[in-house]
Order: sequence, then C-alpha cells, then structure tokens
Amino acid sequence: MTQGKITKIGLWTLVILFVLYAAFRIIAPPMLEKSLNKRLDYSAQRPSATATTLQADMTIMDWHTDSLLWDRNINERSDYGHADIPRLQDAGFDLMMFTSVTKSPSGQNIEENTGDSDNITALVVAQGWPIRTWGSLLERALYQAEKLDEAVADSNGELRWVRNKLELTALMAERSANPARRTIGALMGAEGAHPLEGDIGNIDRMFFAGYRMMGITHFFDNELAGSLHGVSNAGLTEFGRAAIKRFDQLEIIIDLAHVSEPAAREITALSSRPQVVSHTGFKGHCNTDRNFTDDLMKAIADKGGLIAVGFWEQAICTPTPDGIADALIYGIGLVGEDHVVIGSDWDGSTTSLTAEDFPLVTEALLVKGVPEATIRKIMGGNSVNFLGRWLPVR
Ligand SMILES: [Zn+2]
Repeated sequence: MTQGKITKIGLWTLVILFVLYAAFRIIAPPMLEKSLNKRLDYSAQRPSATATTLQADMTIMDWHTDSLLWDRNINERSDYGHADIPRLQDAGFDLMMFTSVTKSPSGQNIEENTGDSDNITALVVAQGWPIRTWGSLLERALYQAEKLDEAVADSNGELRWVRNKLELTALMAERSANPARRTIGALMGAEGAHPLEGDIGNIDRMFFAGYRMMGITHFFDNELAGSLHGVSNAGLTEFGRAAIKRFDQLEIIIDLAHVSEPAAREITALSSRPQVVSHTGFKGHCNTDRNFTDDLMKAIADKGGLIAVGFWEQAICTPTPDGIADALIYGIGLVGEDHVVIGSDWDGSTTSLTAEDFPLVTEALLVKGVPEATIRKIMGGNSVNFLGRWLPVR
C-alpha cells in the first residue's frame, strides 16, 4: 500500500473510533444511572391539602444527595434519577447537601469491603470527566464541587451556594420575604475523606472549593479510620486525629455516616463540635450492618448532633412513605425531636421514592399523629438551627 492509502485508513479508523466513543458517551451514562438509581413509584398516591400546604410553608433540608456524580445537568428536570433542582423546588426544598462520591469498591456491600478495587474510575471515564480525575480521588472531589459551582452560575439565581452563616441568613431572609421565590441553597459534602490522599493540606483545598461537610470513610478502611463496612473495624489513625483537628479549626462539619463505631465514638469525644450522621437508619428500628447502635446515636445527639434518616431499604427496612415516617418517629422517640432530620441518599445508587413523591412523607407523618411543630423541626428547622450555629461566619 502507498503511504497515502495507509494515512487514509488511519484517518477513517480514527473517525469511526470517535463516532463510537461519542455514541457511547450519549447512550451509556443514562443507561447506567437508570440501572443504579431506581425509582419506587408512588405517583398514584397524592398528599392531602393539609400536607401540601404544610410542605410549601415549612423549611426543608436534605443532608445527603449524590446527584453530582451523574451525567445530568441538575438544573434540568429529568425523567430518571431521584432528584434535580426543578423537582426539588416542586417538593418545597430550601437547602440541599450535595455529596461527592469518589471511590466505591466492586461488589460493594454493607458487611465487609477492601479498598483494592474501584468502580468509580470506569464511571468517570465513561462520563468523559477531565483526565486529571481519572487517577486522583482529590481531583474527583474538586471536580464535583466545580460541577456545583457551574450549576449555580447557570441557574438564573434558582440555586445558590451556602458556605457560611452570612449566605445562610441571606437565603432564609429572602425566602421568608418572598415565599413565591424558590431559590435552593446548596452545600457541599464529601462521602469519606480519602480524597485527602493522606495529605492534611488537602483539607484546605477542599474547604476553598466549597466543602463544608466531610465524611471520614465510605465503604472501605482508609488513611483516617476503619469503615463500618471495612475489614479492620479500627478507630482513628494518627492522620485521622490530625484531620479531625483541622476540620474543627476550619469549622467543617464532620459526617459520621459509614465510619466504624469505634472511630465514631473517638470522634465524638475528640471533636469540640457536634457531628451529623448524614444518611442512616437506627439499628433498634432496622437491624442491619448499615446502621449505628441506638446507644451510639444517643451519644451523638447528646453532644448536639443531628441524625439524618435515609429513604432506602438497608437504612429503614421499609422504604415506603409510611416506612420513612416510622423511622423518623422511632428516632424522635430515641434521641428527641431536636436531633432528627432528613438524609435521603437520593442518586446514591439506591432504590427509593423520588423528589416528586417526597410530600407523601409529610402526609404519612400527619396521618400518624406527629404534631405540625415537630414535622417542621425534622424537615428543616433543626438543620437551619444547626447550620446557623456551626457553619463558618463568613
Ligand atoms: Zn453513603
């Protein structure tokens, strides 16, 4: 073959490969998300007028949503996945904690995992994330904060950062002055502190990127501590203790979800601030390896912490509007109505009701006789109080 022919064949091969990749980029991510974030459909049930009125009138915050992991524009209404800004606005949300997932072991389970494998690498490549994110957990965390930053910039003021007390106060004042306006305040949290990559200086980098809540571990033991679903069941490492100190100095909220019980107990003793369990259930209500013991939950609440109840089976056993209400009512009985909040784990590879059906939880609480004042606290009142006290001033 002549040199010209070889060049032509090479060129056509490149074009075909590019077209195949482009088709893969369009087709694969939605297929993957639809298979991982499954919807339990309650669209046939509608809330009462009383629940609908209360839903629109009260402050609502969710402490754990993984929507930034996926290949969707969160400002656009989607017919798959669990949540996006239009659907959250329809359900009356004021504040959302967006959480970044950076590594998840293959065969992930709630009993025991090592950190030897990772499914997120394939996901970020398939979704066409920047090459810097392919081999770095820190870059994956920073990129998800950048995605939120871009969503805020492109939202026409519908979505706004809440990084400090000033931004929180401004948002809440604006929402009470103009209830028709549905601006959502966005906070950023991390599902585990492995993005630090063992370097304490990376806490500051994540803080400057917008992070205001940090988990300690996800499904595997890491540089900071043992996971609730790892192999060691260890407490904090020396690095973990240093990180807790830096989180406290920067006024970053510590999320105890997924950490081993020994580490959680050490953190509650060591930190000068209260903690949050951002998505969980109660072992006394739903006895799975995903949940902390009631005794530990009481210790977290006794220090002023918040327990955010999730919407999926491993956390609450019965993932229906009624089942979510039962888990919340159990929590109120155990730790008191000032310490129970909402932490959906929407878009966290869970199967659950979606944002559009969320008012049915309010309806279920009303039907079960929970007073309106208590519902207002657990839906958002407790969260706004906590953030008003524990976010940095500015
Ligand atoms: Zn999680």
